[in-house]
Amino acid sequence: MTTLPLIRLSKSNISETEIAAVSSTLREEYLGMGKKVGEFEKQLSEYFGRTAICVNTGTSALQLACQGAGLGTGDEVLIQSLTFVASFQAIHATGAKPVACEFDPNTGCIDLADAEKRVTPRTKAIMPVHYAGNAAGLKAILDFAKKHKLRVIEDAAHAFGTKVDGKLVGSFGDITCFSFDGIKNITSGEGGCVVTDDPAVIAIVKDARLLGIIGDSDNRYKRERTWSFDVQYPGWRYHMSDVMAAIGVEQFKRKDEFRKKRQHLVQGYRARLNNYGKVKLFQDNGCDINPHIFPIRILPPGNRDQVQLKMKEDQIQTGIHYVPNHLLTFFKSDYSLPVTESTFKEMITLPLHFDLSDSDLDRIVASLKKALDGK
Ligand SMILES: *Cc1c(COP(=O)(O)O)cnc(C)c1O
Repeated sequence: MTTLPLIRLSKSNISETEIAAVSSTLREEYLGMGKKVGEFEKQLSEYFGRTAICVNTGTSALQLACQGAGLGTGDEVLIQSLTFVASFQAIHATGAKPVACEFDPNTGCIDLADAEKRVTPRTKAIMPVHYAGNAAGLKAILDFAKKHKLRVIEDAAHAFGTKVDGKLVGSFGDITCFSFDGIKNITSGEGGCVVTDDPAVIAIVKDARLLGIIGDSDNRYKRERTWSFDVQYPGWRYHMSDVMAAIGVEQFKRKDEFRKKRQHLVQGYRARLNNYGKVKLFQDNGCDINPHIFPIRILPPGNRDQVQLKMKEDQIQTGIHYVPNHLLTFFKSDYSLPVTESTFKEMITLPLHFDLSDSDLDRIVASLKKALDGK
């Protein structure tokens, strides 16, 4: 019996260029935040046309963005329940409270009608999650925020390279946060960045990532540091290291190649599944998505866990993005979110990464259909 090779749900693609860049950074024997981080930030800032500040993870980017926006104890932040727990923890870390909202089961993004019902005098911000790379609702979210006088901290961890009406996510809006963890659209191993044009936010994020030491970032890019300093508010050790930035700088150069392949794969899935009645696909609503994951809904509901097991037997990894946060013990809400709860039970994520081929897609879709048709 031959076993088919394992198809992974997600993975990074690292070429000899990234490996060489890391080796040469290691040989310089300066591993902290230095000139490589400066170089990565320059690339990103030019790309977005706004200031990008690199940090050690996407989660810390979100936390520092919340801190920079002035969020603290007692403040409330509107957010869809169906997101990675990182978004909820980042809000909680500032002392603010994530307020779980419904999502739109058609696009995967926050349901603003539901969010509106949860606005209180303590609501200070909304954190839209560009689920699976889809940022179609961003314009409406920015209008909603204006109406209610809220800051907008985008969790764009899935949406590096997504465009709305031809404009890059991160190039407009209030504050946008990206993740460069190992499986995201581009990676720096671990990492993230905050993008904004608000000088007050920039100043706080730059300092708070270096333990709150005022104005030390510019010394670090020159491989120097200050020995006499002041601190005025909480800070963290959240800066990015040069080793991570060395990977990021090379991955950035490959971003268009990655984007093209991810979009090709999603088109391939759509072509293979569009007329298949037992699954429902999320819609892009006209957004030019750089897709990070490919979640689908299994109909009829109740089959999801079975399908996941059957596909695993065929050596195909699938995922579940995500357990709704309002169902977790730590973030339990005293109200239910019926759309999120019922849709979640139908959701399964199919493999999506640069190394997949069209024949891998054939294998994945055949396995999915076999599981659902019971043959
Ligand atoms: C990956 C991710 C994050 C956090 O990024 P890390 O770099 O892993 O800390 C936040 N939100 C969402 C939706 C993510 O997928």
